[in-house]
Amino acid sequence: MKQSVLVTKTRKEVPVDEVARNAKLLIRAGYIHKTMAGVYSFLPLGLRSLEKIIRIIREEMISIGGQELSMSGLQSPDVWEKSGRWGDDADEIWFRSHLSAGGDVGFGWTHEEPVTEMMRNHIHSYRDVPLYVYQFQTKFRNEKRAKSGIMRTREFMMKDLYSFCADEEQHAVFYEQCAEAYMRVFTRVGLGDDTYRTFASGGAFSDFSDEFQTVIPAGEDTIYLDPKKKIAVNEEVCTDETLEKIGLQKNDLERVAASEVGNIFTLGTKYSEPLDLTYTDAHGKPQPVFMGSYGIGPARLLGVIVEKYGEDSGMSLPMSVAPFSAHLIALGDSKETFTAADMLYRMLQEHGLDVLFDDRDVSAGEKFADCDLIGIPVRLVVSDKTHAQKKVEFTDKVNGGERLLDTTPDGILSAMKEVGFSPIQQAYA
Ligand code: ATP
Ligand code: MG
Repeated sequence: MKQSVLVTKTRKEVPVDEVARNAKLLIRAGYIHKTMAGVYSFLPLGLRSLEKIIRIIREEMISIGGQELSMSGLQSPDVWEKSGRWGDDADEIWFRSHLSAGGDVGFGWTHEEPVTEMMRNHIHSYRDVPLYVYQFQTKFRNEKRAKSGIMRTREFMMKDLYSFCADEEQHAVFYEQCAEAYMRVFTRVGLGDDTYRTFASGGAFSDFSDEFQTVIPAGEDTIYLDPKKKIAVNEEVCTDETLEKIGLQKNDLERVAASEVGNIFTLGTKYSEPLDLTYTDAHGKPQPVFMGSYGIGPARLLGVIVEKYGEDSGMSLPMSVAPFSAHLIALGDSKETFTAADMLYRMLQEHGLDVLFDDRDVSAGEKFADCDLIGIPVRLVVSDKTHAQKKVEFTDKVNGGERLLDTTPDGILSAMKEVGFSPIQQAYA
């Protein structure tokens, strides 16, 4: 992609109506556009990062046997009335509307009820389970707070997976596999070191649900973590009784702010009973299906990554989620230098590198400032000086370190691979 034709421009001014670092940086860098409080659109740069995150999650969900589908956003009250979640209470999370033909309709904020209802058509016998379905789908939630940028929005994409098992034993195996897949996702997007599996409330069947909490100062949650055991407890459930149950010592725990990047629940028969999702067991007896649900917010993940890898002047995103793997900058006034940079850009593209080429006629200062803001982890500079030596300057912005490389695509690609580039990363981007 040539920067001269990129839809978005960066901006110097910090948006005054944002408090969260992630929103300030992503708006300035041209990743997102604020539509209204708690609602953002994704621009080409932001969408490329989101797609890379989605791809990583998708690979991990496939690796544990998930099958992708996509359910409707519009929801019929009937199915939600059966579980009692259509209710109109003070904590109203629903966005609702009316059909012109008469009757109510809701904008889905999660999918336990509709997926349970739907699976009645597909699960009949014990041979039909276990089954795991997932989707990347837009949820609508009438959130009260909207101060955390893309970490908490009123319209957001969620990866939600639902598991359907014969019994608790079958469920427990998948639940652990999913917890491990979640940790692989967080590691691959650069959050592995700071993300803790966390005991939390909300288990419908079990004592706890498992949250995945990433430690960041801007996190909305408070957790108590045991750095040696690498597990944590959400403040909500951090009682003497809980600690005793899970074998943690109060004195070993650190109190920190964190953001919930994922959440997995054992639902048991909470939804299968009221919605009548049963299967016939080997003895011909009907049994309620044993369910679980597993969520990750890809955009919240991007927000948390920016909180971690950003500073006031800009960011350096992990290669696995940056919109491009390398940012090539042409400097100097000479036509030959520019032509050399342009040739290098084409060759790198042909060799499968996703590269943003700053081909604009603006000052070196402006190009470097934009490069710092946009946050692509590798910077390649072709200047009059490097061109005279037939070299390109290679900077690994994450780990530091500058060196001169020959302008051959092979040499540059092997340097890229050393800092984490993998050609697969860009297949969807
Ligand atoms: P929170 O306690 O932060 O409100 P939640 O418990 O309501 O989260 P779930 O319903 O379990 O979240 O949703 C699954 C995942 O979706 C969360 O772990 C998070 O990554 C993401 N998510 C939830 N709410 C939002 C939101 N308003 N904006 C962006 N992502 C969200
Ligand atoms: Mg919530």
